[in-house]
Amino acid sequence: MTEAWRPDDEDEQRRRGASGPVKVRVPAKVNLHLGVGPLRRDGYHELNTVYHAISIYDELTARRGDTLALTMEGEGAGELALDDTNLVIRAAHALAGYAGVVPHARLHLRKQIPLAGGLAGGSADAAAALVACDALWGTGLSRDELAGIAADLGSDVPFLIHGGTALGTGRGEAVSPVLARPTSWHWVVAVADGGLSTPAAYRELDRLRDAGTAGEPLGSTDGLLGALRQRDPRVLAAALGNDLQDAALSMRPALADTLKAGEAAGALAGIVSGSGPTCVFLAADEAHAGRIAAELEAAEVCREARVAHGPVAGARIV
Ligand code: ATP
Repeated sequence: MTEAWRPDDEDEQRRRGASGPVKVRVPAKVNLHLGVGPLRRDGYHELNTVYHAISIYDELTARRGDTLALTMEGEGAGELALDDTNLVIRAAHALAGYAGVVPHARLHLRKQIPLAGGLAGGSADAAAALVACDALWGTGLSRDELAGIAADLGSDVPFLIHGGTALGTGRGEAVSPVLARPTSWHWVVAVADGGLSTPAAYRELDRLRDAGTAGEPLGSTDGLLGALRQRDPRVLAAALGNDLQDAALSMRPALADTLKAGEAAGALAGIVSGSGPTCVFLAADEAHAGRIAAELEAAEVCREARVAHGPVAGARIV
């Protein structure tokens, strides 16, 4: 806890905070390895994952205001509720409660990360709100303190504060950076029409496992971490894996066509991102990624194919 302010001491808050707008850019994530362990007593699954932040961004601008209000444009506009259920508003309240400040701000979200796409867009927005409001209100928390608040908002939120490539354990909220020599990996991100519910994907995986029809669980992240160190996209391609992929394919069989089309277009590997339905493909380099994206769009197996690179930084003021 930082030093307490009286919640009604707005003058002091204004003196400490930013007077102009604060703009924060936050990336989407993919899981290079998503190992799903058993269901825990608290309803979460034990995860063993390698997160990777990619260059598809949402942008949150925070300005001073007399209430807490959110507007948005882009992916999901008109569909996503802007009330207290939105992760941006929940994050602002969580930070204000922690720091003992008045949660007043005008927030505007420019969304490019597809909704319910398996790219952790909502978690990204929560991370952006923590970083933006921390600067706007002058609460001055460290990244680790912000990540602590983030963990209560969602399993992926702490990673999106940090970004890069990182190991996630527990329900995904315990994050430690993967230290590798700087290498840029090139991705094609096939955005699907409509989303998939993450809880439904976990339930489907449990059902497939009970029925004995799920694939072998991935297990340790050692292979993936070793592949990252070799800096060869062909080696990384062979190490990618996602235990939720069977569940996503069972709920959305058409994703098999997307994965096949990526392979036919020459991708080194393709996997479902998180709980889907977004599929991501690894390319040898940027030009290769561009060619795969064009072929995927021509094959009409996705709403849109975007190129991206990673790792990139987490939520940052721009
Ligand atoms: P994950 O990969 O973390 O499982 P996802 O990418 O599949 O998530 P999100 O876009 O993060 O899915 O959103 C999941 C749900 O969270 C949405 O359907 C919506 O109900 C809720 N939500 C709340 N706030 C937001 C937000 N700012 N952006 C997106 N979704 C939000």
